[in-house]
Amino acid sequence: MKLFVKTFGCQMNAHDTARIGEIMLRAGYSLTDDPREADVALINSCTVREKAWHKAISETGRLRLLKSRSREVVVGIVGCVAEQEGARIFALIPGVDLVVAPDHYAALPALIEEVRRERSPRAITGFDAGGAGDFLCADAARGGGSPLAFVTVMKGCDERCAYCIVPTVRGPERCRPPDDIVGEVRALTANGVREVTLLGQKVNAYRFGSTDFVALLERLDATPGLERLRFVSPHPRHMEPALASLYGRLRTLCESIHLPLQSGASSVLERMRRRYRADEYLEVTERLRTACPAIAITTDVIVGYPGETGAEFEETLGLIDRARFNGAFSFKYSPRPGTPAAALADDVPEEEKSRRLELVHERIERLEREWRSSLVGRTLEVLVVHEGRLAGQIGGRARNGQIVNFPAPGGQGFDRFKGALVEVAVTAVHPHSLKGVAV
Ligand code: SAH
Ligand code: SF4
Repeated sequence: MKLFVKTFGCQMNAHDTARIGEIMLRAGYSLTDDPREADVALINSCTVREKAWHKAISETGRLRLLKSRSREVVVGIVGCVAEQEGARIFALIPGVDLVVAPDHYAALPALIEEVRRERSPRAITGFDAGGAGDFLCADAARGGGSPLAFVTVMKGCDERCAYCIVPTVRGPERCRPPDDIVGEVRALTANGVREVTLLGQKVNAYRFGSTDFVALLERLDATPGLERLRFVSPHPRHMEPALASLYGRLRTLCESIHLPLQSGASSVLERMRRRYRADEYLEVTERLRTACPAIAITTDVIVGYPGETGAEFEETLGLIDRARFNGAFSFKYSPRPGTPAAALADDVPEEEKSRRLELVHERIERLEREWRSSLVGRTLEVLVVHEGRLAGQIGGRARNGQIVNFPAPGGQGFDRFKGALVEVAVTAVHPHSLKGVAV
């Protein structure tokens, strides 16, 4: 039996897809990249913006066409769209057999069996209690040999930013016991993982008993074999001075952080219910840059939030310059069903949203270009994770998050370097990577 899964969305979704693969492997399935040979075909999709929702629905509709009189394919949708729509999917896309929300992946093999046996569709939604076994743990031995891994430390979100559907589709905040997190990281490093990214919607608000996020990072820093630690996504209002001061001090903590801003106008932040002001956000970035001058700070920006005036948008452009971001994702505001903001008029015209998005892109690109050019001549530590497209080239990620490609020293093969840390002098900047030579 073969499983095909197509994934859209964030790193959390990609992580979930990998765990779904492991669950199905244990149930005797194999994985395929070709939907035409699948016995079970799933879409795992995000719904954070309306565009993502549309994509998920149309892709699921396409998978349904795999079914024919001669082929019994189980077609399903999993992830945030599954939680949002539940059994309504069956009316929306006739022919879908399975709707499974994120907290129920462990039940997938049994649900698929039921669908086959009873020849009727199944939908399962809702949230678990966040007990010790409710966090999908990577099967370290099956990790595929990558030096990189993700580890969930918390799930759900209680923050309820006015525009955001995540609390509705991922449920309440639940933190994982620290011993389990440490255990998973140890198992991964024992199997060749060198860099771990901790996952949570508000990851730095992590707390379990007396262990807060700072204590968790300090504990993980001591893991034998672990070279690098990152986390995504922190919330600015939980970036305490004690956390900022870990940069440059904890051996494994990488010099990069993705810290979503959303808007540079305090008035818009208030309407978004972000619970920080623009000047407080800037205090955090300044604190981070003081603790660690080499840090790369990236962000998320939403343009065209309900009622966003031209002057408020100008404040966002101003803050981008003052924070000297090293990169960003920017989005047009998209109303999501059931969120407080969806009750407000989506009153910034589409063309104006496009114009504002373009202006944010330009600013960010300029800052990013200047910063990346300044890296030429510097030496960066690269964790080797891939073979380059050119023969004899290898590459990986620097601690600041940049992809760096370089000729394998001594003409040796990729296998010899996979998972190794190599000091590389940067010689050139390409659109999506840096070029360099090992020193
Ligand atoms: N938990 C993370 C973000 C999750 S969603 C955090 O709090 O930062 C990822 C990004 O999608 C957000 O940072 C935001 O910029 C964007 N986003 C979320 N809801 C959106 C909406 N309704 N319209 C446009 N962008 C949105
Ligand atoms: Fe959404 Fe806000 Fe929670 Fe992030 S912190 S997931 S933006 S509600």
